[in-house]
Amino acid sequence: MSQYWSAVVHGLTPYVPGEQPKLANLVKLNTNEHPYGPSPRALAAIRAEASDALRLYPDPHADRLKAAIAARFGVEPREVFVGNGSDEVLAHTFMALLKHERPLRFPDISYSFYPVYCGLYGIAFETVPLDDDFAIRPADYLPHGPLAAGGIIFPNPNAPTGRLMPLSDIERVVAGNPQCVVVIDEAYVDFGGESAIPLVRRHPNLLAVQTLSKSRSLAGLRVGFAVGNPDLIEALDRVKDSFNSYPLDRLAIAGGVAAIEDEEHFQRTRTAVIATRERLSADLASLGFDVLPSAANFVFTRHPHRDAGELAAQLRQRAIIVRHFRQPRIEQFLRITVGTDAQCAALVEALRDIL
Ligand code: PMP
Repeated sequence: MSQYWSAVVHGLTPYVPGEQPKLANLVKLNTNEHPYGPSPRALAAIRAEASDALRLYPDPHADRLKAAIAARFGVEPREVFVGNGSDEVLAHTFMALLKHERPLRFPDISYSFYPVYCGLYGIAFETVPLDDDFAIRPADYLPHGPLAAGGIIFPNPNAPTGRLMPLSDIERVVAGNPQCVVVIDEAYVDFGGESAIPLVRRHPNLLAVQTLSKSRSLAGLRVGFAVGNPDLIEALDRVKDSFNSYPLDRLAIAGGVAAIEDEEHFQRTRTAVIATRERLSADLASLGFDVLPSAANFVFTRHPHRDAGELAAQLRQRAIIVRHFRQPRIEQFLRITVGTDAQCAALVEALRDIL
């Protein structure tokens, strides 16, 4: 690589996604996918769209999808932005809304893509530790004199901890920071949280970001969206139109609309995941694990006497994959995605055997 190119790209520290193993027959509990399939109505819509229509470019504004999201969440289409997975929505958010002379603030244990986007876009940031119970303290995000943030972002529930901040505290943070944009990353909100979307009308500095990857079981389709004040949405659209006019293909738009409209499938499958999470948490506790209370489709857990990296390796030998982060403070934790009842039972049996 020439000096010129390497100077640009060598400064970047890319995000390392969770492993997507090629082997079949694994119990894959490492990247928080939904264990039940997507809405059959979404699959039918995708199949119908897989036709001669693919000859044509998709709608660059994805108006049908914005309309479906707006109707589902009781907002206007001009309050909705859509993108190719919430990772892309977040990327545009960092570029359009979080670049500021004051540093962006986020928790030090959080979604590890945030510092990556900061590196990519040259955004200064400061991280704040979680409290002793691994919760985000709202007070850490309220401005203290001249130390107001240039932007705030955190997931709710947080990842990888699964811990939830109540909506009243979210509103305190948003109302306390009128000088900057507050982004709530709600990738996991449907598994036990309360969305901040109903607050966007009262708070023009609030952006709520969601995805169809988790609670709607469409990680492979890549659809994410954001809801906020039309001024924020316009800023996101400007960045998007400067980057890729057609981020959502025709299959994603068709499948996304049908998935958003299939409320019955959504409610039934997310409720099943929540019930399994509670059983899994209780089973892990009975094996001696400490389990953080989770409002997400994963649990974050540690065994007081067993090394987490060792446990993950031994599970892997039994064809069960969970996530282990080699990161200070959480290196003794495992993040385990809630699978089907059978997958979780297999995990618990394997752990009983290993312990
Ligand atoms: N936010 C958080 C907190 C996540 O864990 C993830 C999934 N890795 C995402 C956003 C991105 O999800 P997607 O791009 O599939 O919408």
